[in-house]
Amino acid sequence: VPTVSVFGIPVCKWGMEDTVKYLTEVVQTGQPHQIITANPIMVMAALENPEYKSMMQQADLIVPDGTGVVWAARKGGQPVTERVAGFDLLHELMKQGEQLGWKVFLLGAAPEVIQEASARLQLQYPRVKIVGTRDGYFGPQEDLEVVGEIVKAKPDLLFVARGADTQEPWIAKYKNQLGVPVIMGVGGSFDVISG
Ligand code: UDP
Repeated sequence: VPTVSVFGIPVCKWGMEDTVKYLTEVVQTGQPHQIITANPIMVMAALENPEYKSMMQQADLIVPDGTGVVWAARKGGQPVTERVAGFDLLHELMKQGEQLGWKVFLLGAAPEVIQEASARLQLQYPRVKIVGTRDGYFGPQEDLEVVGEIVKAKPDLLFVARGADTQEPWIAKYKNQLGVPVIMGVGGSFDVISG
């Protein structure tokens, strides 16, 4: 994966098309990958918190979500192809899943939000199998139960919507146990989708 360094964070240079192509191969090979959609708040968090920075550096793919990140890369003399917004990437992956019959698990947001988001995504992408949903309001003592639920559902994609300070470290911690090929934090996306 070709990257540029934005304050020490390796951000992928690819645009949307190459990113989706790569993640399609990831689904086919089946190895778990953490995808981070980087915005300036996350880059700032990494600058302030070495633990968060090292977590980000260990992600498998960091896409330039925020225009601020795109700007910083250009300013640093190593531009990325284009902005790859997390919300758009979610939809592009669902489109690809529609072609290839992927299974998807949706984790996060409030219970009624995740139900509504799931129903709307299912209407929009009828050939994607939504193999599970679960709200994002659980504590660390429930982590293993949630992980077990996801493992049993065997999704190709796992979208995680909790707060940015929670979702990325959570994914990093459980990535290998989850064994899901594409695991991506999607922040407030389910709230937007649910309307
Ligand atoms: N969220 C969640 N569990 C939590 C905290 C937040 O599922 O413990 C969800 C929240 O309902 C929303 C999403 O995470 O759907 C993003 O939350 P927020 O915008 O507060 O986080 P930010 O992205 O601003 O950090």
